[in-house]
Amino acid sequence: MKYTVNAKGYYGQFGGAFIPEMLYPNVEELRTKYLQIINDPEYQRDFHKLLKDYVGRPTPLYLAKRLSNIYNATIYLKREDLCHTGSHKINNTIGQILLAQRLGKQKIIAETGAGQHGVATATVCALMGMECVVYMGKVDMERQRPNVERMRILGATVIPALSGSMTLKDATNEAMRHWINNPTETHYIIGSVVGPHPYPDMVSKFQSIISEEIKKQLQEEIGNSFPDYVFACVGGGSNAAGAFYHFLDDEHVNLVAVEAAGKGLTSGESAATTALGKPGVLHGSKTILMQTDDGQVVEPHSISAGLDYPGIGPMHAHLFEGGRVKFISATDDESLKAGIELSRAEGIIPALESAHALAGLSQFKFEKDDVVVVNLSGRGDKDLETYIKWGKY
Ligand SMILES: *Cc1c(COP(=O)(O)O)cnc(C)c1O
Repeated sequence: MKYTVNAKGYYGQFGGAFIPEMLYPNVEELRTKYLQIINDPEYQRDFHKLLKDYVGRPTPLYLAKRLSNIYNATIYLKREDLCHTGSHKINNTIGQILLAQRLGKQKIIAETGAGQHGVATATVCALMGMECVVYMGKVDMERQRPNVERMRILGATVIPALSGSMTLKDATNEAMRHWINNPTETHYIIGSVVGPHPYPDMVSKFQSIISEEIKKQLQEEIGNSFPDYVFACVGGGSNAAGAFYHFLDDEHVNLVAVEAAGKGLTSGESAATTALGKPGVLHGSKTILMQTDDGQVVEPHSISAGLDYPGIGPMHAHLFEGGRVKFISATDDESLKAGIELSRAEGIIPALESAHALAGLSQFKFEKDDVVVVNLSGRGDKDLETYIKWGKY
């Protein structure tokens, strides 16, 4: 099976570009130019220099000994939480801002859920002196207040999305609307491997630095670049795409994606897309999404704002359908517990998104010498309020 995108923007039956007529020129401009731009040696030099000097890459691959003892395995944490701005999101925004410059754009728009992508976008806009508008659901603005202020300090304008559940999918709708109205001078930085082609491919290429580094680091550490397992949480799927990317063709590496089950798969308050969803079109691509029988998007729920999304990227839909990636889910409660467990065992407070990946560990029976990599997508500072409200620590 082939896991990369084809020339038409499809992963198997998923992907494509289902966009309003008025967005066609923008998306077409991107589609025809992105590969040439990002494969250019000068672009690559700029990208890697910023990843090193500004983001702080390579991020460590850390052997978590006490966590390993708990799960009877050899567990490494890929420390994306140590990236500048606190998550993997900046790998992608650095890539896209350099692309936007080469496309001659002056303004940047973005959507954000947890606020991490908004912060990562506001950050690179400040870095490059570009104007930045970020759409964010009103509910998310309330539960991620520090990130809203971070964006404002960085000089971005944050606009609340007031429709639907007032979360990530609604912010995405508003950002698309803005782009339609401001097509020529604006680049839209999508924060995950979602949206019309070429976004899913472009964003997964930018994030693939994660698995590129994991391979090198494992080679140095254990003399073998292949782990037995890679775990990552999936909202739209960008950190998972990055952590899986260079292992996709190596079938002996078990890839595990952990979705947010919210209050439980059957509770009606969940964001576990593959467990509950069906094929359909969401935000410009054919993928799997949570929907009613007549195709209305179902409001998702997760305690972690970054996973509170009713779909997954088309690449993940394909990987799920073909069985290459095992999709599991963890509830709000299980994830909060796993977050506290990591804090106590290793002195690392994870983002609630990443805590879902950690919560996935307990659903497997490992052998002691199994090498397990957990992609620790972000740090928990932004989620302190939620941990505090939960209170069981
Ligand atoms: C945004 C976010 C996620 C979810 O997004 P993906 O595109 O699925 O990676 C996961 N972890 C953190 C820390 C985030 O900020």
